[in-house]
Amino acid sequence: MKITFLGTGTSQGVPIIACTCKTCKSPYAEDKRLRSSILVENNEFCIIIDTGPDFREQMLRENVNKLDAVLFTHEHRDHIAGLDDIRAYNYILRKSMDVYGEERVFRFLQLEFPYIFTEKKYPGVPEINFHTIDAEPFRIGNMIIQPVRAMHYKMPVFGYRIGDFAYITDANQVPETEKEKLKDLKVFIVCALRKKQHISHYTLNGALGLIHEIKPETSYLTHISHQMGLHNEIQKELPENVFLAYDGLKVEI
Ligand SMILES: [Zn+2]
Ligand SMILES: [Zn+2]
Repeated sequence: MKITFLGTGTSQGVPIIACTCKTCKSPYAEDKRLRSSILVENNEFCIIIDTGPDFREQMLRENVNKLDAVLFTHEHRDHIAGLDDIRAYNYILRKSMDVYGEERVFRFLQLEFPYIFTEKKYPGVPEINFHTIDAEPFRIGNMIIQPVRAMHYKMPVFGYRIGDFAYITDANQVPETEKEKLKDLKVFIVCALRKKQHISHYTLNGALGLIHEIKPETSYLTHISHQMGLHNEIQKELPENVFLAYDGLKVEI
């Protein structure tokens, strides 16, 4: 299985429009972060977790010619805004896209993208097969996906475990019972917004605390704010086997 970090930034991305801070003005590629999303590929299937506002640019950058499914973590704009561009795959692959998320996400998508879900469709709009999921594991081709519940302050979101790998973003808490699903991971990806406290995202210390508890072999931090600081400086402060992710990073499992 191969994971590609399509984007590792928080909702506004890094740099932020018009911001003149040290991170936003950094000349280094690692400090340029599109909105968070990952691509998960095995020998047969290729799925994306979340389609943020940078979806089109990310697919072009990584030359993704085939996409089998979309998984949504939650319905915040920085995770869904690129859904319209899924139609490129409808045309090329000549099929509708399988999209997975919980019932609440589905209801929100219907409000945000009414033209996708109306009976009489304008020609060329995205074609989507929405699959409503709950806590039960489900299958996409030869991948078994285990949803993992996490809390984004008061909003329940889904992280996903696929084999020895798990991805949780936009959370600041994982219920004790759900931590069982995060045992014996080879690779764990979790959000870490910044050092300073935040109401709905893990801070750097919060993410490191969770990593310490569940003890994956290797961990990557994502959904990073400009307030975290420079990639190279923060990386030096991290424990062994914990890495700040950056856009374009690829991890083989
Ligand atoms: Zn987000
Ligand atoms: Zn969010």
